[in-house]
Amino acid sequence: MTDMISLAASGVQGLQPYQPGKPVSDLQRELGLKDILKLASNENPLGCSQKVMQALANLSNLADYPDGNSYDLKQALAKHHSLQAEQVTVGNGSNDILELVARAYLTPNHAAVYSEHAFAVYPIVTQAIGAEHRVAKALPAYAEHPYGHDLNNMLALINDSVRVVFVANPNNPTGGWLKESELKSFLDKVPKTAVVVLDEAYFDYVSEDEYPDGSAWVNEYQNLLVTRTFSKAYGLASVRLGYGLSSPEIADILNRVRQPFNVNSFAQAAGLAALNDQNHIERSRETNTQGLLQWQEACARLKLNMIPSVANFVCIDLQQPAMPMYDAMLHMGVIVRPVENYQLPGMIRITVGNQDQNERAIAALTMALEQTS
Ligand SMILES: *Cc1c(COP(=O)(O)O)cnc(C)c1O
Repeated sequence: MTDMISLAASGVQGLQPYQPGKPVSDLQRELGLKDILKLASNENPLGCSQKVMQALANLSNLADYPDGNSYDLKQALAKHHSLQAEQVTVGNGSNDILELVARAYLTPNHAAVYSEHAFAVYPIVTQAIGAEHRVAKALPAYAEHPYGHDLNNMLALINDSVRVVFVANPNNPTGGWLKESELKSFLDKVPKTAVVVLDEAYFDYVSEDEYPDGSAWVNEYQNLLVTRTFSKAYGLASVRLGYGLSSPEIADILNRVRQPFNVNSFAQAAGLAALNDQNHIERSRETNTQGLLQWQEACARLKLNMIPSVANFVCIDLQQPAMPMYDAMLHMGVIVRPVENYQLPGMIRITVGNQDQNERAIAALTMALEQTS
């Protein structure tokens, strides 16, 4: 019998599928629970803007293909970032952009650089191509941003063979961030033969003074690709919409490998309407800032180390195996995210919800700690 596994491209054979947060419907089926709270995929507890719901209700023509060039959406995104439409690449989620850049720039003879404990999609898209992985040692546990990117370690791995460098700011699952001055001097040192992918999925949640807006730098660095998403602060994870901002040359290349209709009509309409409601982003940020404080206080009370986070999730050191705690919380109807697959055993990542959701999750965590101690 032919072994259909061994016939696959060798990089693909080495892949493990991405593990998403456990869906609510799975837990309902498995444990027969009704009232379930999912804080496992960094979704927005406020949902999306009402303007999006109106725009989607007005969509009428489902028989026609979407605008394959997403003209209106690209124009609006370009205006939003004071860039040209030729600098915008739209994607089926920003994960799509991450995959496009890997497919366009990596080969089995080239390498990608990323940090330990960085977003799981970077190794997946690199592995799928069969390119070399160069994983930079992260900052130590006692650093200001524990387990965050060590840009010097990353730089040391970059040479002529490196075509793609992934930097998440802030990073998922750790929640720490990089300052404008650090990132700028990093970009100055990275050779122009490597595309720097600056993943700003959580941009809208950050309000630190020294946190940079990478979109302002794409005219200065021809090798910079900034990625953003509508999945987090915009509350539109279900429609799958993200985008890249770059030099027109990078955008041109990504556009050549993109599926012709990678962004559907719902996503285009939703994105346009969502961009038009920046008040929703403001409210989402405020809710999140309050929620982060709630988690900080809870962790201090429970004597748990929480990695300081500027994103819409917290990564908590349980100082004990995470899986039993995760299971105990599942039985209380609260879904969180173990991060063993990020080489952070003993930690869980919890999405910041609204005040009531945080209270419920904190109560579940407290009870799980008592049960497992
Ligand atoms: C959630 C997330 C994304 C966004 O993924 P989408 O495909 O846009 O939903 C990208 N990067 C990081 C670091 C993330 O955590």
